[in-house]
Amino acid sequence: MSVDILNQVGQNLSNLSHVDGTSELEKEAIKLLLLYVQNLQSPDQKKHISGDVLINEARQFLEALSNREYESSELQILHKAARKEIGTLRRKVMAERLQKAKLQQTNSVLRQAYILSTEMRDEHLSAINDLASAKELFITSVTMVEIEVFSYCNRVCWFCPNATHDRRSSNHHMKHDTYIKILEDLRSCNYNKRISFSRYNEPLADKSILDRLSEAREYIPNATLHINTNGDYLNRDYLFDLYNAGLRALNIQIYLNNEEKYEHERVRQKLERKIRELGLEFSGVKDIPDTWIEVTARYHDMKIRMYGRNFDKNGCDRGGTVEVESKAPRTSPCRSPFYHMYIDYNGAVMPCCNVRSDIPEHSQCKVGLMSNETSLFEIYAGEKASSWRRAMIGFRDKKGVCKNCNFKEFTDTPETRAAQNRILKIATDLERVPST
Ligand code: SF4
Ligand code: SF4
Repeated sequence: MSVDILNQVGQNLSNLSHVDGTSELEKEAIKLLLLYVQNLQSPDQKKHISGDVLINEARQFLEALSNREYESSELQILHKAARKEIGTLRRKVMAERLQKAKLQQTNSVLRQAYILSTEMRDEHLSAINDLASAKELFITSVTMVEIEVFSYCNRVCWFCPNATHDRRSSNHHMKHDTYIKILEDLRSCNYNKRISFSRYNEPLADKSILDRLSEAREYIPNATLHINTNGDYLNRDYLFDLYNAGLRALNIQIYLNNEEKYEHERVRQKLERKIRELGLEFSGVKDIPDTWIEVTARYHDMKIRMYGRNFDKNGCDRGGTVEVESKAPRTSPCRSPFYHMYIDYNGAVMPCCNVRSDIPEHSQCKVGLMSNETSLFEIYAGEKASSWRRAMIGFRDKKGVCKNCNFKEFTDTPETRAAQNRILKIATDLERVPST
């Protein structure tokens, strides 16, 4: 319905409410319809009244109107006009309901479109030299900082770069100064999101993790301290110590032997043994044959997830260092360098969990080096990190280590593409301009 017609209807209704002899009820109906017409003219205003409310109330008034003998031709006209308006409104409400139902079906697509349109912003794409602005960007973007406080892992799982890049023969600890500098930076912005003590080490292999956790709790008491572990070292006593040191979220991954492929029932048995060993009450969450099995539990207020997954189906090629069946050319945007930061044991800052500084083919991926002279914020907002983010925008071929990466892909739909269009254009323009 055009705005002109609405204006005309609104004016007519307004005039009718002043006709002598109009009953109070009829005046109410007229006012209501007037409100409806005004509402249609400004659907985006905050005072928008739900179509459902209007339609129900208008119906009641109309029923009252239609049971009357009309005393004036004006009221007969009103009745006719009102019926037409209500019919239009009803159709509009039905269309909205259908749209809502459709939205629920495609909820995940819309969620993806929402992420792609809100979490990738213009300021992520160019270097920011001013520290305060860099810090602001970090605070409003980063939800997890992953820190590798030492390098050692006891395993060489076939789906991990550790199978071919040594992490067993020695253990290199992150310099304590570097670690404290990270915590100081995070304290300076009252960081209250997640710190994950993970990467390519086994965090529970060295009890120094307890000291690192205690320090993190002291510097950033509002952050959630998290660990990913293979569970080999974990028992009830260790869990108690980890909790007391400040750990509040724990993922226990159930792996078979280093070279073994996923077998659902064997993974289930191993998971059940670990549950008994830890003596916790777990509840079932997910059981997808040949793909994934998962349970959750609580230890006081610590959240625990325990799961096994089939890496051939849902694993990642780790920047081209691992052969998994699921690998395929990537065109999807990647959100990782926007909302997470990864810091290797040697202080190198990496854009995602799949690349690491001690693999020669990945060394060019480094976006910065933590030291007393630089801050997390400057690295996050620096040219190297923003250049990575530019390369991650849009549904288009990804290159280098990202070429065959299937890590957290977005589905290519009209909605997700539309959500990327504007920022993709900015990124493409910026890529054409050589950085200074
Ligand atoms: S997957 Fe985990 S446990 Fe296995 S080798 Fe890699 S870091 Fe170690
Ligand atoms: S596409 Fe994969 S390798 Fe590339 S940044 Fe994203 S997660 Fe890392």
